[in-house]
Amino acid sequence: MKQNINSFNVQDIIVDLLSSLSAVKELSELNHQTGNETELVLKALSILIQNQDMERCSFFVLDEHQNLVNLAGLSSKEYSGAEKSTHKPLTFKIGEGIIGQAAKTGEIQYCKNCKEDSRFLNNLPQALDLLPGSVISAPVLAVNGLIGVLNISHPDVNYFSEWHIRLLQIFKNMMAELITNYRLPRQIEERINARTAMLEAALENMKQLNKYHESMSFLDELTGLYNRRYFYRQIDAALARSKRYRQPICLLILDLDYFKAINDIHGHGFGDVVLKDVATALKEEIRESDILVRFGGEEFVITFTDIDKKKGKLFAERIRKRIASLEWKVQGQEVNITTSIGVYCPVEADFEQEYIDIDALLNNADQALYEAKAGGRNRVVFFASQASDK
Ligand code: GH3
Ligand code: MG
Ligand code: MG
Repeated sequence: MKQNINSFNVQDIIVDLLSSLSAVKELSELNHQTGNETELVLKALSILIQNQDMERCSFFVLDEHQNLVNLAGLSSKEYSGAEKSTHKPLTFKIGEGIIGQAAKTGEIQYCKNCKEDSRFLNNLPQALDLLPGSVISAPVLAVNGLIGVLNISHPDVNYFSEWHIRLLQIFKNMMAELITNYRLPRQIEERINARTAMLEAALENMKQLNKYHESMSFLDELTGLYNRRYFYRQIDAALARSKRYRQPICLLILDLDYFKAINDIHGHGFGDVVLKDVATALKEEIRESDILVRFGGEEFVITFTDIDKKKGKLFAERIRKRIASLEWKVQGQEVNITTSIGVYCPVEADFEQEYIDIDALLNNADQALYEAKAGGRNRVVFFASQASDK
């Protein structure tokens, strides 16, 4: 249609109507699930240009920064293959130029003579020669807001008619539906992915927190050593390994001598310092594979793996001497402490003769400790009735 609506003839109207209907029909048949959004928009634009007499059409999509970015454009010459397609990376802000006005007002903007239109003059004063004659900018609106602006242009002024505007009214609504339908499953997928990522992060946090709580529940707050709970958790495996591979094992129970007197004379706070220093000294005396725990109060348990009775004796003596060598100064007074140690190192014969479990290990070492205390303290005593001693 190259004439104004006022000077139409019936034949022109029928031709326009048919081509409009055909554009609408083709657009409704577009498969919106193939390719990417640019390809989809380009297909819609080619349907428009194929059925309507216009020079160029383009689509400006609203991006996450609220800019209208030229997503795709097509001229009739590009569509027919007479010219190579070019993509101009134009961007408008909302309210800027005729495209921005369409976005801002939500209404179709028709510029009949672009060179004299303030919407163009205001924005592109330096490029007057490049301006088209007529332009229509149609906002593409979805239920939840603006998607972008459909723009059509022609070099002639006063080119577009009421028909073009009516068709664009329908065409832009169909494009809104098309793009919404294209985006919807992707948005749902994105939302699901985001939620999944959030859940995974929360789960990971919880795991870390659990790990932290678990590790805390195995630690003694005062000395930073492992506690009795940790001992019971670890000793099973150590004992099983020892039985299975016939590896020697030694269990030591240490109890500080006359510790109550330390508290009574120098205060509980100083008693705590002593406990911490003893813990540090013990830590320095053991290997990574050994298990050292604060069993309770001023009692410590050490399990030496792969250490036989002879070596166990050496180690226990070394520890006893180390504790005895510790020194504190309180109010000008020198303070020392000693420890009694009960040791039990089951040997192969013990394993064969009787069932050695954790309780047996502890009881036997404890009995030896009792003897150490009774014998005068500050000494290492081995469990007396070991099979190896019989
Ligand atoms: P023995 O040589 O027979 O072992 O004498 P003892 O005084 O060491 O033994 P007893 O069991 O009578 O006293 C242990 C003391 O350890 C009593 C308790 O107040 C003290 N104790 C236990 N836990 C802590 C603690 O965390 N901090 C301090 N400062 N003292 C503690
Ligand atoms: Mg005690
Ligand atoms: Mg004690």
